Order: sequence, then structure tokens, then C-alpha cells
Amino acid sequence: MPDLSPLTWAVGIAALVIGILAGHFGWGRRWSNPLGKLHPDYLTGLDYLVSEQPDRALDMFLRLMDANSDTVETHFSLGSLYRRRGEVERAIRIHQNLLAREGLAPEHREQALLGLAQDYLRAGLLDRAEGLFQQVSEVPRLRVTALDALRGVYERQHEWQQALDVVRLLARIQAAPPRLVAAHYLCELATLAIERGESDAARRLLREARAEVAPFPRAALIRANIAERAGAVDQAIDLMRQALADAPRLIQHELPHLLRLVLPPARDALLTELVAQAEARSADDLKRLVFAAILAGEGEALPLRAPMAQVFGQDPTLRAVWRAVPDGLIAHQIGALLTNAEKYRCSECGFAGRNFYWHCPACHAWDSFEPYAIVKLG
Ligand SMILES: [Zn+2]
Repeated sequence: MPDLSPLTWAVGIAALVIGILAGHFGWGRRWSNPLGKLHPDYLTGLDYLVSEQPDRALDMFLRLMDANSDTVETHFSLGSLYRRRGEVERAIRIHQNLLAREGLAPEHREQALLGLAQDYLRAGLLDRAEGLFQQVSEVPRLRVTALDALRGVYERQHEWQQALDVVRLLARIQAAPPRLVAAHYLCELATLAIERGESDAARRLLREARAEVAPFPRAALIRANIAERAGAVDQAIDLMRQALADAPRLIQHELPHLLRLVLPPARDALLTELVAQAEARSADDLKRLVFAAILAGEGEALPLRAPMAQVFGQDPTLRAVWRAVPDGLIAHQIGALLTNAEKYRCSECGFAGRNFYWHCPACHAWDSFEPYAIVKLG
């Protein structure tokens, strides 16, 4: 979740302070009270806020809130604001303070446990978050929220089977995430099965993944891996070509591997086929293929010459590069430029890097990585 802007934060705090005051002084009934009669603790708290001593301000406001049982909702709002602002320790204090309160209504206790679990998650204290989310998931009213958060905890711990079990529970109450998510969990489990040498188990998991989403290029790529390990190289090549036909954006990541499987005499035929497919789809796909080939060290290959001239000729920036570099060195120069560049970017959050991920390390979206350097250069 993005941090709040200073303005939003200031407005939020102001609204909460008014909420605290309304609860503490009964402003709903006595709205015309002169400011001169404000509780001195409130003024001290505000003074601490203004003088940037947030911990002392928080102490003061918590004391004010403790004195009045009508301020529970304000606690929740303040806790949520602190968490969203990244000040997790303060959010934890607020929720713990609530839970320690005698006579707290059961629904408020459950809400406070959920808040505390979310604080722990934000703080990276995954074990504590997991325990509390499990506890809160027993509360029917909070079940979907708690289970979905629990799924996120298992994802972050790479506990794929447990994450999948939670998806199945969510499906039973019609609150499952998109089926793509379960398909990726199954692919993660299949990859682990391959590492253990259990190819049959991996194939079964991939069949389950394809039952969730079809076509599913990641499953085809893992099946290609199984085939390659078993020596069935032609089958591996077919599966990879199918995956790339279904998901052309994967070309940059997968082309080097595919080219390694194809012996040099057949490489030109493969590249010719890929060029024809890209041309039939779009100019962007052709551009993607040209850069993928350059990165894979095949920029000088005969089938790439005409597409490269076309891609570089159509784009003003690339045309300038094309003219500045001597003939025959263009692919080499661009390849050198791209080697250390950020090559992929998450289409959900903009996280960019040199490595490809199925699961964005920043926003935890699935299948959101796209070639980036191409866009940047183009
Ligand atoms: Zn992302």
C-alpha cells in the first residue's frame, strides 16, 4: 500500500483529533464550547505533534482515549493511518492498547486482533501475523479478509501448498482470488517436485494448473523443462514455441534457452518462423523479438536483418542510433547497452530490474513482468 502524502496525513490527523475531542468532550452535545475550556492534555498533545515529537503526542492521545470508552473507532482509524504511513510500531501500540482495555466488546476485540495482524504483516513479523490471521479467520464477519491476508503471508514465506489450501477455502465461500493465482501456486509446487526428481507429481500438478487457466504458458515452459531433462528435446522445443505463441512478451526471457535447444543449422529456420509470427501480430511484437534476439546474441543472424532495419528505421530515437553506429556493429552495440540495463518492469507497480519474476517482489502481483528496456529505448 502506498504511503500517504503529507497532506493526506495532516488531514487525517486533524480529523482524528476532532474525533477524539468529540468523544472526549461530547462536542456533539456542546459544540459551542469555547476553545478556552479544552482539556490541557489535548493542547499538550497537539503541541508535541507540532513540535514533531510523535511518540509523546501518541502517549497523550492514548491517555485521552483511555479515559473515554466512546473513542474505540478513533483508535482503529489512528492505528490504520499509522500503519499506512509505515509507522508500524505506533500502530501496534494502539492495537495492543485497545486489546488491553477491560470490557472491550467482542467485535472490537476481533477487529483489534485483525488490525494487530495487519501491523505485524507490514512489519515483516510473518509468524505473528500468521497466528493472528488464523485466529481471526474463525470469525465469520472477518473470515474473507483474514484468509486473503493469510494467503499473502504464505506467499511471502513460499509456503505454496498452504497458500493453495487457503485459496480452496476462499473458493468455498465464493471469495477466491483470480484462478491465475492458484495456477501459479501449482507451478511453484511443480517446480519443487522437479527439483526433488518427482516428474510424475510435477506433471499432475501442471495438469491441475491447466485446469485453472488454459492456455497457461508457464505450465508449458515447465513441461518443456521436464521433457528436456528426460532427453525429449524436440518435445521441449515444441512446448516452448507454444508458450511463446501464447505469450509473446516472454520472448526476451525465454529466447536464449530456446536457441540453446536448437542446433545451429535449424536456428535460422526457427528465427524466420518467430519473425513471421511477430510480424503477423504487431509492430511492438516485432520490436520485442529484435531486441530479444540482440540480447540472445543472435542480432547478426540473417533472418533478423530486414526486421532490424525496419524496427530501427521506424523509430526516431533508434534511427539516430542506427546512423551513429557503423554497419555490422549495431547489434553488438545495442547488446552491450542492454546487458546492464533494467530489462523487465512490473506492469502493476512499475518495479524494474534486470531479472524476470513471475511474482513481483515489490507488489506481489503475478504474471506482471514485461520487457522494459525495449520500451525505454524506443
Ligand atoms: Zn509489482
